[in-house]
Amino acid sequence: MTQEVPIVVAKFGGTSVADFDAMNRSVDVVLSDSQARVVVLSASAGVTNLLVALAEGLEATERFVKLDAIRKIQFDILERLRQPNVIREEIDRLLENITTLAEAASLATSPALTDELVSHGELMSTLLFVEILRERGVDAQWFDVRKVMRTSDRFGRAEPDVAALAELVQQQLAPRLAESLIVTQGFIGSESKGRTTTLGRGGSDYTAALLGEALQADRVDIWTDVPGIYTTDPRIVPAAKRIDKISFEEAAEMATFGAKVLHPSTLLPAVRHDIPVFVGSSKEPKAGGTLVCNKTDAPPLFRALALRRSQTLLTLHSLNMLHSRGFLAEVFSILARHSISVDLITTSEVSVALTLDTTGSTSTGDTLLTSALLTELSSLCRVEVEEDQALIALIGNELCRSVGVGKEVFGALEPFNIRMICYGASSHNLCFLVPGSEANRAVEMLHSNLFE
Ligand code: ASP
Ligand code: MG
Repeated sequence: MTQEVPIVVAKFGGTSVADFDAMNRSVDVVLSDSQARVVVLSASAGVTNLLVALAEGLEATERFVKLDAIRKIQFDILERLRQPNVIREEIDRLLENITTLAEAASLATSPALTDELVSHGELMSTLLFVEILRERGVDAQWFDVRKVMRTSDRFGRAEPDVAALAELVQQQLAPRLAESLIVTQGFIGSESKGRTTTLGRGGSDYTAALLGEALQADRVDIWTDVPGIYTTDPRIVPAAKRIDKISFEEAAEMATFGAKVLHPSTLLPAVRHDIPVFVGSSKEPKAGGTLVCNKTDAPPLFRALALRRSQTLLTLHSLNMLHSRGFLAEVFSILARHSISVDLITTSEVSVALTLDTTGSTSTGDTLLTSALLTELSSLCRVEVEEDQALIALIGNELCRSVGVGKEVFGALEPFNIRMICYGASSHNLCFLVPGSEANRAVEMLHSNLFE
């Protein structure tokens, strides 16, 4: 089935809906593109973090501080509407829900309760945005994405059911596009019993791409606070350059290896249905941005540098590995039982080195190096743990099929102690570890040698 009218799904992140003025700038962006038919929003900046804190269970005084902060962010927007009373009751009702749920969390936390609580950020931002659109004369409809975003019940990191989503979108969402502009929530969904789930932090990008896929959209626009994807983080290297066009593979590597611009899963649906994804800044929409698409002209050997901190290097030594089979299988089955995902790996005759991402919260369990895990591994082999490593990924094309890459890259890195190197598995990346304290300097030096 092909769409008659082009459809663009436009997603705005937290800073693009942070306050009344930001929301209005985002409305300007939507109105400047007649093909933008579906708007997907994050919660207003700061709200999700406050809700997450409440979900962890706080005592009364602290709870009221957070609740007040949330109320203030949303009421500062509400009060600037010409007719705030139209949705005041609704926002008040959601704030009351939050209060009740936060109190429940202070007694006993649970992943399901957390998702229910956290979903209120997106519910409120979308209601306010619709009202701003209406006051500006746009016929906009608020749509509860949970009607179509069917997910697993892995709360906090739910997986979308893509087939169910496609069917539900065609039934419930697609027919409405002809009527008015649709505004809906990123990040949230519901499992088969109807309980609210979330797709993981930063998941609104993923929502936009999933809806784009289900609607067979022509493009997905991700509006954020940076005008596109850069050769590296401009906060580390001011000379970093914007990339105008980049392939799905390259951008996916960048997202996976720490570039914060896109949620790592975002490109999966886009690749499946070959939907270009545009990344731009809602603050300066005229500044252009980056188009992520299937093919780019003349893909360069070196495209970008991504940096991910807080990596833990585990080195496992065992003489049993010598001429034996199944040692790696055993190691990985232990890691799998502990829900640990491994990023880089290298092996030698009697040892294996692997890296774990130990960034951020422990609530997902995904990256946690627990003592239970260490005990289990230690029963199998000798374990060495090195923390605070940084993973630098050089993203490019045909990297493992071009001559001289090693010399060029490692020549530039001469002053550094490189702890581990992974090269050859993908023609799009070359990864290595350096001590966390040397990461910025290594990125600067490599960038100036390869990109400037
Ligand atoms: N509001 C959610 C978060 O802060 C989802 C998103 O912004 O994409 O993680
Ligand atoms: Mg966000």
